[in-house]
Amino acid sequence: MRERENSTRCGAWKNIPEKDWYDWRWQYANRVTGISQLQKIVTESPETLEACRKVVEIYPFSVTPYYLSLINVAESDDPLRVQCFPDIKEIDFTIGGIADPLMEERNMPVPGLVHRYPDRCVALVTSVCAMYCRHCNRKRLWRKNQPAIRSRDYLRCMIDYVSGEPLLREVIVSGGDPLTMTEEGLDWFLGKLRSIPHVEVLRIGSRIPVVMPMRITRELCAILRNHRPLWFNTQFNHPSEITKDSAKACEMLLEAGIPVSNQSVLLRGVNDTYEVMCALLYGLQRISVRPYYLFQCEPVEGTDHFRTDIQTGIKIMKNLREKVSGLCVPRYVLDIPGGKGKIPLFPSSFASVRETGVDTYCFDRTNQMI
Ligand SMILES: *Cc1c(COP(=O)(O)O)cnc(C)c1O
Ligand code: SF4
Repeated sequence: MRERENSTRCGAWKNIPEKDWYDWRWQYANRVTGISQLQKIVTESPETLEACRKVVEIYPFSVTPYYLSLINVAESDDPLRVQCFPDIKEIDFTIGGIADPLMEERNMPVPGLVHRYPDRCVALVTSVCAMYCRHCNRKRLWRKNQPAIRSRDYLRCMIDYVSGEPLLREVIVSGGDPLTMTEEGLDWFLGKLRSIPHVEVLRIGSRIPVVMPMRITRELCAILRNHRPLWFNTQFNHPSEITKDSAKACEMLLEAGIPVSNQSVLLRGVNDTYEVMCALLYGLQRISVRPYYLFQCEPVEGTDHFRTDIQTGIKIMKNLREKVSGLCVPRYVLDIPGGKGKIPLFPSSFASVRETGVDTYCFDRTNQMI
């Protein structure tokens, strides 16, 4: 499978000049956000549209023309469509799931800053995203009526907290999507963190290269380059998201000296087969993006229909370990509900080592792995 040569623009966007299409401001301003707009793109029954209307009253809808152009909109199970189109299952609250299973809100010493591990923390700098992923594990942040853009004072409290915690050597700037902030605001925030002596490394978590790749401009790269060492984690979930445009966005970051890694979420109907996962990981390796994590989908309210069981993930991982290049294999992790942290999920490697008959070299007499 190769990168798609170009996105196919549908309907209303057929005649948009290249210079607009490749301008992120145009993409951002022309996001499809309402059901009446959606109605023009998909042919759905009035009942379905009415259901969607109910969903977006709780979880808003937003998708860029670029991402929309990658979708086969006529297919309701298109793996990109399901990541961004509202689904009535999101508001079936009888299924269970909780808004914040990782108890992030309880691990916040100051609002918006999650400090769970000794050496690193997460700063939730905004609740705005270019596209709202239906499977998002922080859906609670962008539910209707949540404060969206954060004030400087709010951000200053985080900076003060990090300054007072000498063990914090890495700050992960996340959200929402931090690349929806203004360049000036982002530059200011990263600069403030950079000026704290014990903060050695910054990390940005953003889906922008996947959903609005034209936002990765020379100017933005110049800003980010200034705050290195800076690592960038994005979220490709399906091989069709790897396009000429998203590849270019990653390439520009890499050329600015910013390593790009990927955190996928294991999603039912999107990437829960070995074949799709393998195509995704090979595609990432081709564009020099290192697969970092594959997340087990959390029991977050409104995402139940995306969850696979852990056995599905384990089987895919076993296949990957046996067959594909080590550089392509992410760690499959589960963030334990209750805020206890991430644990890797392995196919039992202990058993397979023993099967090879090398016990005498690898184990001591008490059968402990050395
Ligand atoms: C996931 C996460 C991190 C980052 O963990 P890594 O294993 O370094 O990627 C940091 N803080 C919190 C609260 C997290 O959930
Ligand atoms: S971009 Fe990230 S924070 Fe925003 S909706 Fe998607 S997964 Fe959630």
